[in-house]
Amino acid sequence: MTGFPPFGEKPGPINRNYRTHVCGELRADHAGEKVRLSGWVHHRRDMGGVIFLVLRDRWGIVQVTCDQSISPDAYEAASEIKNEWVIAVRGTVARRPAGLENPDMLTGEVEIKASKITILTRAETPPLVIEQEGAEEASFRWKYRYLEMRRPEVQRRFIVRDRIINFIRDFHHARGFVEIETPILGKSTPEGARDYLVPSRIDHGNFYALPQSPQMYKQLCMIAGYDKYFQIPKCFRDEDLRANRAPEFTQLDVEMSFVEEEDIISHTEEMLIGLIKEITGKPVETPFPRYTYWEAMERYGSDKPDLRFDLPIIDISEAFKKTEFKIFRGILDSGGTIRAIHLAGAQPSRKEIDDFQKEAGKGGAKGLAWIAYEEGEKIRSAMGKHMSEDEAQKVKQIMKADDGDAVLIVAGKKRIVLESLGYLRNALAKFYDLVEPGVFKICWVTDFPMFEYSETEGKVVSQHHPFTQPNAEQWQEWIDAGKPMDSDLLYGMLSRAYDIVLNGDEIGGGSIRIHDPGQQAEIFRILGLSEEQIKSMFGFFVDALKYGTPPHGGIAPGIDRIVMHLTGAENIAECMAFPKTLKATDLMTGAPSEVSDAQLKELGIKLR
Ligand code: ASP
Repeated sequence: MTGFPPFGEKPGPINRNYRTHVCGELRADHAGEKVRLSGWVHHRRDMGGVIFLVLRDRWGIVQVTCDQSISPDAYEAASEIKNEWVIAVRGTVARRPAGLENPDMLTGEVEIKASKITILTRAETPPLVIEQEGAEEASFRWKYRYLEMRRPEVQRRFIVRDRIINFIRDFHHARGFVEIETPILGKSTPEGARDYLVPSRIDHGNFYALPQSPQMYKQLCMIAGYDKYFQIPKCFRDEDLRANRAPEFTQLDVEMSFVEEEDIISHTEEMLIGLIKEITGKPVETPFPRYTYWEAMERYGSDKPDLRFDLPIIDISEAFKKTEFKIFRGILDSGGTIRAIHLAGAQPSRKEIDDFQKEAGKGGAKGLAWIAYEEGEKIRSAMGKHMSEDEAQKVKQIMKADDGDAVLIVAGKKRIVLESLGYLRNALAKFYDLVEPGVFKICWVTDFPMFEYSETEGKVVSQHHPFTQPNAEQWQEWIDAGKPMDSDLLYGMLSRAYDIVLNGDEIGGGSIRIHDPGQQAEIFRILGLSEEQIKSMFGFFVDALKYGTPPHGGIAPGIDRIVMHLTGAENIAECMAFPKTLKATDLMTGAPSEVSDAQLKELGIKLR
């Protein structure tokens, strides 16, 4: 309870028939004052002759004492009362007798000696015990989310969320930004996910798409001359959900004109540093390190590296240059690589190695090799006699390993090796408790590849989105080479995109945009759209670019993720008032649900 309300908020005007004060504000200074309070019964204790109620409202809790000998009426009402009934109390604030103060309550120095208690509404026994912190399954808590949201620690999260959003709004307004709302019923924006569609009643067979982001709208605001735009919109993406992905989420959407990467980066940094300080009181380590995409991949095996621990990935191919170990030989001869992570002062058991191998497998690794260095030249290794003593010692040297350490190794194609070790790195940090607690480690990742080949779609796709500007020199090289598709010139091309990463979580991404209509149309062509498709899907946008477009760029940090990190919540859904499950259902309302035949008919829809 200590620290609630989180920012010492004041209640503002209140109706004096119900209350003269709010529960959480009463202190020893109020002793002797006659007060009225209203709220929920948080807790009740019957001591025989005296009943103690703990009364709760949004501002906290306070103890109400109903003494039969002093106020029989109040005592009688309190005898009937149960948890979560809504009551109004009249009484006098009194200091608690010495030794009976409760240091866990902000109001713990006082109690209210009740003179009158009015029952405003009775309550059935709630399925969740409000005064206990929630350990129940989310599926149960979310069915009764309105009850769970009564819990002080949950209320605190939403008050912090409000503060965060407020800080962000003030920050942008103080810097010349204007908040512009953009439509929810719109046209598909290609952010790489599936759209949520809304059928038109008036124009059967036509559909609106809910925005995956306001990307094109915010760029149109730049064309319209607003120069510095922001918005805190809901975005909708109908994709396969997993932890920290929700079908609808909130982002801070920012766009600025006449800017380069540096402007967006410093703007975002200033905001985050200020925000974290304001909300948590903690400083953030600055400057934020910056890695290019390939630097991050090479060192950490991830484009969202967690910097709360080190465990870098190191290339040990050199040690096996002359190896006769068939698997390694084959991998090196076909252009693959052998990389490793150094585990200082620990040697995993067989069972642990099996678990780590599963983690590495998430990145595609087929196996996990390891060497444990014992005293002197002695080693243990799954590779056993396939590896020469010399090779084992070379690895030890490259990794700067000591006796008692272990080295975990993955060999194969470079991307698979790096991604596998990236997964392993996170798993090792968790298992060996290497994550520095209570810190905010932020970094930028820049220079992402412009395109990638999507196995599922069987074609080239944008790594960020199709409005991202490519590296100018590489773009020109590709044009000069005759625009070869399926070439290293295309797949090696870098973009002017950047991501911001907090404690291993990508909390936002953005880019410098294309402002040349010809280049924009060319990108759509690379992505496999025909002239017809470009016209019907993005004609309005390519046209708009023709009427004088300033150079511009932006970013979109995820609000739910920021709230999660700053409140220490387990996942983003817990930071949303009425969240949906991983199956995109709302357990409280039952959405999505069937609609009537009449509604379908009106929309011209027949279910298959
Ligand atoms: N529209 C992008 C997104 O939602 C962010 C951006 O490029 O500004 O991820």
